[in-house]
Amino acid sequence: MDQTVFEIISVGNELLIGRVENTNLHWLVTQITIMGGFVRRAVTIRDDLSEISTVLRDSIGRGTDWVVMSGGLGPTYDDMTLQGVALALRREMEVNEDAVSMMKRRYESLVAQGVLSDYAMTPARVKMATLPRGSVPLRNSQGSAPGVLVTEGKSSIVCLPGVPKEMKAIFAESLMPFLEKNVIRLHSYSVTLFVSRIVESVLSPLLDEVLKSYPAVYVKSHPKGVEDGVSKIQIHLMCSMADGVESKRRAVAAGKMLSSLIAGAKGVVDRVEEAVGQG
Ligand code: ATP
Ligand code: MG
Repeated sequence: MDQTVFEIISVGNELLIGRVENTNLHWLVTQITIMGGFVRRAVTIRDDLSEISTVLRDSIGRGTDWVVMSGGLGPTYDDMTLQGVALALRREMEVNEDAVSMMKRRYESLVAQGVLSDYAMTPARVKMATLPRGSVPLRNSQGSAPGVLVTEGKSSIVCLPGVPKEMKAIFAESLMPFLEKNVIRLHSYSVTLFVSRIVESVLSPLLDEVLKSYPAVYVKSHPKGVEDGVSKIQIHLMCSMADGVESKRRAVAAGKMLSSLIAGAKGVVDRVEEAVGQG
């Protein structure tokens, strides 16, 4: 596939007991999609060494270009994402001198601002600078634990902190500029039909016909229930291709074909919206 493929691994017990909502995932997939990347899979796992390493190994085994992990970079005992990465890649953990200097600079400035009283590299702080061998630390402008970039074969693995503000800052400051130049960009075009008087079970064979004629177009129906005795449904058609003119042509043609099939089934297309992008 001539696309840049991403997978996301969210790490944290709190995400799997309902204590914290996985907003990092939503933010990441939105950013990646806007950049034209393709998110193939996202998994959420516990702070568990064997889970972290097996899930990462599987992801690399699928030939994923970018594996983005969030959570578990901090100094506490349950933060073990980097050990999991080291285990998956069969690499040693070692103190990374670039990470140490990044952290020292941050603590010195916090002491200068009076936020912190001491900038010594305590064991808890050294832990955050202990990275799998071959890692590149990514500056964290909003917190202590640096992000981590490490490559294995054709896969780049990025580890980001769980704290949303820190995760976003590292992604935006250290990765976005690089990704925007290197992600193989697809051009998407969306057509949305706002339809009345047809239900999904009647619509379903009509969608099959459209898909047969336009296999590159993704079609998704969103039932909106019954309003004033009239059933409502929105249908989103989207085409993503390297050639933007062609993706528009196909999405629009598929939308027209579906509109006439709906009319033939006594449905009513109330409104059509078109948009460049994912709609
Ligand atoms: P820290 O250095 O603060 O320990 P960390 O990288 O170890 O950072 P975690 O301990 O995993 O991160 O999570 C810190 C906080 O970030 C959690 O209490 C939670 O509120 C938030 N958080 C973690 N993961 C997510 C997520 N996927 N979506 C939203 N918030 C999250
Ligand atoms: Mg933590």
